[in-house]
Amino acid sequence: MVSTLLVVVDGLRATDVRKMPFLTQLAHRGVSYRQARSVAPSLTRPAAASLASGAPPGVTGIPGNRLWADGHLIDTGRPDHLVELLRSLRGDRLLPVPALGEHLADHGHKLVAVGTGSNGCTLLLNPGAVDGHGAAIGARPFGHDAFYARPESVRRRLAGSLPQAADGPFPELDWATDLIVDYVIPELAPDVLVLWSGELDDVQHANGVDGPAGDDALSEIDRRLRRLIDRVREQTPHTDVIVTADHGFSNATHTVDVADIESLIPPSLTDAVQLVDNAPGTDTHSVGALVRLMLGATPAQVAPALAPPAERAASTGSWSTDGTSSDAPHRHRRPVTIRPSSRHWAPPLARRTCTSTASV
Ligand SMILES: [Zn+2]
Repeated sequence: MVSTLLVVVDGLRATDVRKMPFLTQLAHRGVSYRQARSVAPSLTRPAAASLASGAPPGVTGIPGNRLWADGHLIDTGRPDHLVELLRSLRGDRLLPVPALGEHLADHGHKLVAVGTGSNGCTLLLNPGAVDGHGAAIGARPFGHDAFYARPESVRRRLAGSLPQAADGPFPELDWATDLIVDYVIPELAPDVLVLWSGELDDVQHANGVDGPAGDDALSEIDRRLRRLIDRVREQTPHTDVIVTADHGFSNATHTVDVADIESLIPPSLTDAVQLVDNAPGTDTHSVGALVRLMLGATPAQVAPALAPPAERAASTGSWSTDGTSSDAPHRHRRPVTIRPSSRHWAPPLARRTCTSTASV
C-alpha cells in the first residue's frame, strides 16, 4: 500500500497555489505548512538531494546543478554523470548520507521515485535505486530507451510495455500518471511514492512568472494532479498526500553570468589581476579567487588556489552557471582565467556585499 505520496512541483511558488483550484481545495481539507524553505543554493538538484536525504547541500555534496569533481565537469541532471563519475569518485556512494529510500529499505519498505524533470533529478530522489532499493523512473529519454529506469530489472520490464504518451501540453506528466497507476502501484507496490513534476519550471524559465503562460501551466498541472491523486486513491484510499516544491521563482531583468570573468572584475581590481587567455577552461577557481580579492584577500592568499590551471581545468567543455537547463547545449567562450598581480594590489576601499537570488 502506498502510505505516502509526495508530489513535488518544480518551481511552484506558495502564492501560486491560489491559482490552482484542486491544490487549494486539498490545502483547505488538510494541513498547510507556511514555513517551508528551500535549501541554499535554491537550485533544483541540490534541493532534490536534500529532500531525499534531509541533509543540506554542504553535506550531500550536491551544491549545484553542475559541479566540478576531481577534474570532471559533472552535470547532475545526467544520471550517467552521477553514477559513472560522481558516484565512482565517492566510493560507490552518490550521497554521503543515506536517503529516505535506503532508510525504508533497511526496514523492509520501498520508495519509488517517478520524475518528469531531468533524469538526474529523478535519480537523486532515490539514489539507492541503482543498488536495487526501490526504483527511480524518469520520463526523459536515456540511451536507447525513451525513459530512464533503475534498477535494471525495472528498465527491462518497462522496455516493451510503456503506456502510450498522451497528447496535450504536458504528455510526460500524463505518461507518469499512467505509469504510476498501471505499473508502479500494482507491480512495484511502493510504500512511499514520489512524483516530481518538472513542467512548471520549464515554462517559467522560458516565460517568467505571473504571465499567461505560467498561469496556463499552473492550471494544466493542477488538473493533472487532481487526476493523479484521484486515481492513486482509488487504489489506496488511505494514502497521505504531501505537495511541495523545491524552490520558488522570480522574474529577473538582469542576470550576472559568473563564467564571463572579464565582466565581473570591478574597476578597483583591474590593476590587481591579469587576464590570461588560452587557459584550458574558464573555471570556478578564477571566480572564487576574484570574489576573495573583492572581499579583501591578498594575491598571495588566492594564488595557491589558482595554480596550476592546466591541471586544474583539464576537463573539456566550458563551465556555466547561467541558469540554463541541464539539457541546453553548453555555450563555448574564449577561455580566460585570472592571475593575481601583487605588484599592483591594494586592499579594496570598501568591503562589497554580494547578494543574489537564483531559482533553477
Ligand atoms: Zn527546480
